[in-house]
Amino acid sequence: MLPPLPAIPPISAETRLAYVLRHFHMAFPAAPTVRISYSDAPVRIVDGAGEFFGQTQPYPAAPNYRDWQGQSIPFFFDAAPEKPLLELLPNQRAIIHADVVSAAFYLLSGWQEFFSDERDRHGRFPYTASVQHRYGFVDVPVVNYYFDVLKTAVEHATGQPVRPRRWMNDAPFAAFLTHDIDNLYSAWKQPAKAALKAGNLLGFGRQLWQHLTRPDAWDNLKLVRETVAGYGAQSTFFFLPEHRPGANGTPNADYDVAKVWPRLAPAIGDAEIGLHASIGRAVHTGDLKREEHRMQRCTGRDLVKGIRFHYLGWEPRLTPVLLDTLLFHYDTTLGFAEHYGFRNSYCLPFHLFDFRQSQPHDFLEIPLNVMDATLHHPNYLRLAPDEILPALTPMLQQIERFGGVCTVLWHNENFDPANQHNGPREFHAIMEYLRSRQAAFVNGRDICELVS
Ligand SMILES: [Zn+2]
Repeated sequence: MLPPLPAIPPISAETRLAYVLRHFHMAFPAAPTVRISYSDAPVRIVDGAGEFFGQTQPYPAAPNYRDWQGQSIPFFFDAAPEKPLLELLPNQRAIIHADVVSAAFYLLSGWQEFFSDERDRHGRFPYTASVQHRYGFVDVPVVNYYFDVLKTAVEHATGQPVRPRRWMNDAPFAAFLTHDIDNLYSAWKQPAKAALKAGNLLGFGRQLWQHLTRPDAWDNLKLVRETVAGYGAQSTFFFLPEHRPGANGTPNADYDVAKVWPRLAPAIGDAEIGLHASIGRAVHTGDLKREEHRMQRCTGRDLVKGIRFHYLGWEPRLTPVLLDTLLFHYDTTLGFAEHYGFRNSYCLPFHLFDFRQSQPHDFLEIPLNVMDATLHHPNYLRLAPDEILPALTPMLQQIERFGGVCTVLWHNENFDPANQHNGPREFHAIMEYLRSRQAAFVNGRDICELVS
């Protein structure tokens, strides 16, 4: 199952530095130029990585915790815990004693999942195997804190303030609303099954009759689009072009996109669409290419450049290479199914690192922060409806603090009022919050244009 680890060249300090500074400048586009280096420079970083990036172990030594602006933050590769984190010297020079560049590289690049052998039954890197789980920081974007340290050093070294990126209309942060369309015609099945199991033949008959004579409650894309538009936001829909189950029996779509597209097109209007790649497609270029073609043929839209994998399928050793090969502009798969938060500990779009080529990947990763299923599911969290927004609020505050993007995945089936756990009421609570905090509502295209 797990692809073997390819031969990887050691990653030099210069390569790490260039990769991380590229992201620093994406986060702070107007930052003045100043030399930042591991050797003598106005902003000097003390190298704490040793030989770590010349080997293939997935995990570094335990982080050291330091206070930064009132928050306790884990610093990996912190070789001198007795020294101050940031030393501001006269003559506009600064020294950062914890190696924030190596730590940012480790988390952003995807190192832990690439080198780890752990996968769950869907072939995914499990949350329980992550440093975020082990050290308890999944809802803290620690790379943004590392960049905050770096920014403070740059401000000292240049004497100029460094401002974060702002979103359209000067909004302090952004929100990206997405819907994976797995099911359109299955709302009746669960209540019908329950009625049958309880021997309630009348109830079963009523469900079946409704199914045959009335539109399904999940055939609701117009309602989804209008609900989201009611907040001044826009929906991005990810469609699944495969309706046969995957090789392991896992279901794909309950609809045939080619057949239903003439009806779906008016329902979604001019909303952005992306590919929801089916089971198994995260590991095979040819299969993924065929799926993309099928989607383009059905929809008549030839610019499907965004993607999210069904079941958040992702093989770190293969999938990123596939996405570059097929010239996708962005992916938005990378969140943990088991927990909301930051899989790469960062709340802005970024580029994963291509370990084979020792350079960043081309496609933009727009991290996924909140998935409806995560919040209430036997295998994931089991939050009560009124626990959901309070649980998410600290994470949302972090995204706002750093001017990031909050990506929300709410399946169309969870706009069904019959869902009282993670349904429309809970979605409205999140949307009310985002609107009250003046988030800019963006889609994937907007993000790619603004960030690149
Ligand atoms: Zn899906």
